[in-house]
Amino acid sequence: MTEYISDQLLHTMHSFVYDLDVEICSNMISDDNELILEDISVGIKEDGRNLCQLEKYTTYTFHSHPLRSWSYPSFDDINKVSKNLNIKVSIVATFWGIWEISKEIDDIKINLNKEKINEDILWKLGGLTKTDDDERKETGIKSMTWSEKIHKVIDHYVRKLNKYLGPNIYVKFTPWKNVLKK
Ligand SMILES: [Zn+2]
Repeated sequence: MTEYISDQLLHTMHSFVYDLDVEICSNMISDDNELILEDISVGIKEDGRNLCQLEKYTTYTFHSHPLRSWSYPSFDDINKVSKNLNIKVSIVATFWGIWEISKEIDDIKINLNKEKINEDILWKLGGLTKTDDDERKETGIKSMTWSEKIHKVIDHYVRKLNKYLGPNIYVKFTPWKNVLKK
């Protein structure tokens, strides 16, 4: 996947995560057969979280999680795709790589089990992100380095997540190493 996003845009998404301390969100629209970001918004800090909201969503939508945020989509990120009829693909760029949440059927709203998805999958992914406590206090930035071992564990939870989500919503993860090499 991600073939439909240009190299240049993927690098831009990478720099949003690594160079900015705020969440960035934007719809993506097609321009000359290429997806471009439209109306980029910047997150507002709320209860220590950095939330970025769009007034409306188009078929392709994007947001970033800055380094101090989670390296995977939140339940709300997944749920948003199931609840918003417009969204077909939601891209979340994080510390680990690119997450794609896509929907097969656009006229069905799916009720997802928040507790189960959080407890069995998302919080487990959160546990993979080791942080140095002192460093985190200083900077809030996660200190874990990328490894193939971590990738395997993430893939395990992604497969499990997709079983929970059922056939109509699909989550795919690609690490930066694979995203940026094309
Ligand atoms: Zn998010």
